[in-house]
Amino acid sequence: MSTLLDSIQPASGGRTILDPATGEPVGRVAEPGVAELDAAVAAARAAQPGWAVLGDARRVELLNAAADAIEANAEELAVILSREQGKPLNGPNARFEVGGAVAWLRATAAVPVEPEVIVNDDATYAEVHHKPLGVVGAIGPWNWPMMISVWQLAPSLRMGNTVVMKPSEFTPLSVLALAQVINTALPADVLIVVPGGRDVGEALTAHPGVDKLMFTGSTATGKAIIRSAADSVKRVTMELGGNDAGIVLDDADPAAIAEGLFWGAFINTGQTCAALKRLYVPDSLYDAVCSELTRVAQAMPMGVGLSEDNVLGPLQNKKQYDIVASLVQAAKDGGGRVLVGGDPDESTPGYFYPTTLVADLPNDNPLVAQEQFGPALPIIRYSSLDEAIEMANGLDVGLGASVWTPSPDRAREVALRLEAGTVWINEHGAIDPRVPFGGSKQSGFGVEFSKAGLLECAQPVSIKGAAGSFTAS
Ligand code: NAD
Repeated sequence: MSTLLDSIQPASGGRTILDPATGEPVGRVAEPGVAELDAAVAAARAAQPGWAVLGDARRVELLNAAADAIEANAEELAVILSREQGKPLNGPNARFEVGGAVAWLRATAAVPVEPEVIVNDDATYAEVHHKPLGVVGAIGPWNWPMMISVWQLAPSLRMGNTVVMKPSEFTPLSVLALAQVINTALPADVLIVVPGGRDVGEALTAHPGVDKLMFTGSTATGKAIIRSAADSVKRVTMELGGNDAGIVLDDADPAAIAEGLFWGAFINTGQTCAALKRLYVPDSLYDAVCSELTRVAQAMPMGVGLSEDNVLGPLQNKKQYDIVASLVQAAKDGGGRVLVGGDPDESTPGYFYPTTLVADLPNDNPLVAQEQFGPALPIIRYSSLDEAIEMANGLDVGLGASVWTPSPDRAREVALRLEAGTVWINEHGAIDPRVPFGGSKQSGFGVEFSKAGLLECAQPVSIKGAAGSFTAS
């Protein structure tokens, strides 16, 4: 048995976490509750001044040491993640996610963040410094639990804050194991994980000892958190749900883009915030794109994560399985033509829903209009580009979007007309730690990654005086 897994489990008791692929126990998690949360926030507050005073260069060293520690434990972490979340070890899944955690830690450590001279003329001198906020409360989802934890903790720590993290109740072992490894490189109480359910999350968002919240999860929960944070005017970064559109232009080559479209939509078996969730295809290419995507989809094995053959896994939980099943049913009821999948085998264990493509749906069908967060992609036909852009922009969310064309000019022109925080060209969901990432509309606000993401975890302090009244530090 995994020694890392042993080290994060309570000596006795706790809640048993089941593997979503097999229904077998993965491990147990202690769920301490709100009293423990108070103690964690107090400890993180006490540790924060010492962490800040270490200075940026030392914090950078320690974040890189944490990345080294993850690399040294990468396979053990990937196995825990695969068994708890369900994603296969292979493909763009568990090992890839652990690698992403390392890459994001290193990239976050590498961004230069110097005080900026903003004005320096005959009359005025002004600088902007970036100071820690204090304690960051981080609340995460179950789809990419390790990588998203790093997106929250790495910029927070780099900027001199300490972190209290509340993982999803569906994937606490992954986050506890990751933090256990990271903490071998960090001083005590700089990063504390408090597992628990919604009650612990709510208490964290209202806690007077927390200065900023970083939340990744559904739009509905995000709205509740914004309300809760209002009383103490906490800073908030909201990475919320999406329903990303992809638009294929009429000069694209269906065979050449099919694999990119597939992984844009089905990475992590569709359980990805910025996955391609609605695909718009022109009349002239409709049949070709449908058949090329079907060809790719049929070649991708789905199954238990620890088997090296598989690149797609189960839905992580029953609730999500039911959402996907009911949306595909709504698509069938609404006249959709199922190209592949759509017919789960209820007799096998695990929350497996087959890779599903549905053609000929109207834009207002629930499978198009609602976030499926699973392996079912609707393909919608369009006649004019204006119509496609209007359909793509027609929802109240806008996390990502994509344009598929060999023409750079057309790509940019369409990208600038789409309402989304990121528009990808001939790829989808291809996040990069150097490029700011965040939502538009009800997909959230604030950005992560890059210098812009780091600055969201800091208090800007402007220092201004007459020219010559103080000198640059
Ligand atoms: P969720 O909103 O159900 O839960 C997220 C977290 O919030 C969990 O830890 C949960 O315990 C906690 N929580 C629930 N109610 C709370 C409350 N009232 N106060 C405080 N905390 C509370 O989301 P989920 O089902 O875990 O994740 C799926 C959703 O997350 C999808 O909509 C997906 O698009 C979105 N997501 C967005 C991004 C992004 O970067 N924008 C990334 C990943 C997932």
